[in-house]
Amino acid sequence: MADKNYYDILGVSKTASADEIKSAYRKLAKKYHPDLNKDNPDAATKFKEINEAYEVLSDAQKKANYDQFGSASGPNPNDFFRGNGGSGGFGGFGGGFEDLFGNIFSSFGGRTTANTAVAGNDITTRVTLSFQEAAVGVTKKFNIVRTEECEHCHGTGAKDGTEYTTCTECSGTGQVRYTQDTIFGRIVNQGPCKRCNGTGKIVKEKCTSCNGKGYKRNNVTITVDIPAGIDNDQIVTLRGYGDAGVRGGPAGDLQILVKVTPHKLLERKGFDIYLDLPVPFTTAMLGGKIVIPSLEGKLELNIPENTQSGTMLKLKGKGIKQLNKNVYGDMFIKVNVELPKSLNKKSKQEIEALEKIFDVDDFDKYRKFRDTTKNL
Ligand SMILES: [Zn+2]
Ligand SMILES: [Zn+2]
Repeated sequence: MADKNYYDILGVSKTASADEIKSAYRKLAKKYHPDLNKDNPDAATKFKEINEAYEVLSDAQKKANYDQFGSASGPNPNDFFRGNGGSGGFGGFGGGFEDLFGNIFSSFGGRTTANTAVAGNDITTRVTLSFQEAAVGVTKKFNIVRTEECEHCHGTGAKDGTEYTTCTECSGTGQVRYTQDTIFGRIVNQGPCKRCNGTGKIVKEKCTSCNGKGYKRNNVTITVDIPAGIDNDQIVTLRGYGDAGVRGGPAGDLQILVKVTPHKLLERKGFDIYLDLPVPFTTAMLGGKIVIPSLEGKLELNIPENTQSGTMLKLKGKGIKQLNKNVYGDMFIKVNVELPKSLNKKSKQEIEALEKIFDVDDFDKYRKFRDTTKNL
């Protein structure tokens, strides 16, 4: 089982006494209580983990199950409800320590009702894509561990041909009332029947393949076509690729958080891409070709004769494909005319000769600027 090690979480040995466990728990609960750790976002997760560990190790029956089967509820499909996103009774960290202890003793009351279908957990993972992969789409493989129905007993937990009988302890309801003595007095709770683990049914003979759980944790490789046009921080959801549901409940989803590494030269804005292109002044004046990167690989961009600095050249449809549409953005190239780093004697003479060829009427913007300044 891939269950967490509750002893490690509380920092106690397997032979620790109930008092040692309680004392370790109290120290850690105080240390990681979210109210006292507003600046540490990991504290809430840690706090939940500590509570989960204590909920098991402080309960003799659950502890015995955990020691034997590696899970608090023993060999039963209920195992897979553990840690189900925030629904385990520890949600809402607004309260103080009273709430904290209140939660511990009532949490199992919030468990799943017997015989109802339960949706499987979502599984989240992440992937880092290059700019190019995100823009044009890519196929990636993901190795995940997920709960799948046991193929031998088809999720029933019963050995081939054997059947369930109704649990006599709870008359098949799966629920019983508990009284518990706590430091705050006696508390009565309704919770899942321990005999049948809340299912209301007893398996006559366990499936040997899954030890009666009906489900297994399997390593699976899933190939995912990440669509063209995906952007940083977007999530690709594969419906039904998460943990299997229980008693006919739907499977959870696989959610892939996408991170995109920036391109060295290209910038994305929506579905358009932008490139700042330095162009030698001679090429800008005489025209020419410059090799630029694009989503389709390198291409030769034609710089028209006499292209001014700041000109925006547009390559229609060379942008990013819109998600799930056959529409493409455009590529914009901004021309930045670059002068030579320095002039030597010869080039200076040549430019001086050139200067005589042009007069102010050759420079529209400059002429307007000069005239405006004059008249200020
Ligand atoms: Zn099985
Ligand atoms: Zn029962």
